Amino acid sequence: MEIVSYLIYLVASVCFIFGIKKLSSPKTARQGNQLSALGMLLAIVVTLIDQRIISYELIILGAIVGSAIGAVFALKVQMTGMPQMVGLLNGFGGGASALVAFAEYDRLFLGSGEFEISTTATIVLSILIGSVTFTGSLIAFGKLQGIVTGKVVKYPLQHPLNAFLLLAVFAAGVFVVINPSEIEIILGIIAVSLLLGVLLVLPIGGADMPVAISLLNSYSGIAASMTGFVLANNMLIIAGALVGASGLILTMIMCRGMNRSLMNVVLGGWASAGSEGPAPAGSSPKGQVKSVDAEELAMLLDSVSSVVFVPGYGMAVAQAQHAVRDLMNALEKKGIKVRFAIHPVAGRMPGHMNVLLAEAQVEYDKLLAMEDINDDFPNTDVAIIIGANDVVNPAARHDTSSPIYGMPILNVDYAKTVVINKRSLNVGYAGIDNELFFYPNALMYFGDAKDAMVKLTNELKQM
Ligand code: NDP
Repeated sequence: MEIVSYLIYLVASVCFIFGIKKLSSPKTARQGNQLSALGMLLAIVVTLIDQRIISYELIILGAIVGSAIGAVFALKVQMTGMPQMVGLLNGFGGGASALVAFAEYDRLFLGSGEFEISTTATIVLSILIGSVTFTGSLIAFGKLQGIVTGKVVKYPLQHPLNAFLLLAVFAAGVFVVINPSEIEIILGIIAVSLLLGVLLVLPIGGADMPVAISLLNSYSGIAASMTGFVLANNMLIIAGALVGASGLILTMIMCRGMNRSLMNVVLGGWASAGSEGPAPAGSSPKGQVKSVDAEELAMLLDSVSSVVFVPGYGMAVAQAQHAVRDLMNALEKKGIKVRFAIHPVAGRMPGHMNVLLAEAQVEYDKLLAMEDINDDFPNTDVAIIIGANDVVNPAARHDTSSPIYGMPILNVDYAKTVVINKRSLNVGYAGIDNELFFYPNALMYFGDAKDAMVKLTNELKQM
């Protein structure tokens, strides 16, 4: 039987690996998800059969209650609420790993009382990382949900205090590995780790949370992997390692897309991040803004041959993706070539724009990554920006004093005309003004993205 379990665990692990591989392209992402889910189902069934479980009542009850809550959340959550949903799930993953590790400690403590050094070490690591992930993720969820302040929270002796607690918890961990029967120390490690999760995430600005959540996702994988070592379960080790590594890679991609170091995000980053209000008086770029209405814009578009849409956070907030698709269809009917330029950190989570546009059934081959479209802007008649701001801010290219200096941006200003749809001249996530609005080839098309796109499509259809 044992060999069969190992084989099925191996099949499950292979499902995870190919599932993740398939997630790397929107075309195969759905299959990837299903393959990984199949792997998880296999793993759960084998574990339930293999572990000689005496009573299934509580397990079945837990599965039903958990699945029902999960299904309700998954169906109700808005696309814009996905980052906090993912954050919450990471937290539960970390918490579960810590609980399993503690239960195993308790079992060994009450049982033989004999501890292998490697087992105790992984128990401590699992408890530490799992607990930090649990409370850290709850704070991340609270920040994004508006329950906890989204501001960068500074507190006295922030860095020395965290460094001290981290050192203390590691020292306690080493002590427990040498003296495994000291249950009070284990309880102390849990308490300090829970506190650390709060203290480490509290200073991070609300708008930096997606990066923090991606990092916490990685932690939850590492905690699960450690628990795999505790339970001597290869499948859990592999699955946890996959989550840990992919979470870390994603975090690095996000940081690179924002031209920021992980330390900059983790230590509190842009103080103004997340501000949605107007830029401070006096700091705004000066000049004339030219604005157009739907009718004027439709007239302009009626005579062009290529359009590139540049979606951003505003499209997500307005849920304008379906209206954008209708506009795309109307333009294509007139023989205009339409493509989409996707910045890696447009919106508020990785792949945000791809997911929304896929939901609106925009063909994948029309979505071009920044590096594939950027050289083509000079040949583009009109670039239409829909609720994007930072990812098209030319200051990133030349203004060394700008907080986003060095961040790769979409070169929309090289298009013959650039149309910017947003509700006002307000700043985006980074809290900085955008000189693009004042460029000679720029036209502002003010309004909520959804309304604006619907109006424009109607005007275009009448021409
Ligand atoms: P920004 O946050 O820079 O700008 C969004 C703009 O959308 C705002 O300026 C706002 O202007 C406009 N807007 C808001 N609501 C609407 C609406 N209903 N209709 C039309 N416009 C609207 O977005 P970008 O996508 O350009 O940039 C993403 C930013 O988020 C980057 O700075 C990135 O670093 C950061 N980030 C991204 C992450 C990711 O994984 N994608 C993770 C963490 C951070 P107005 O109020 O005038 O309408």
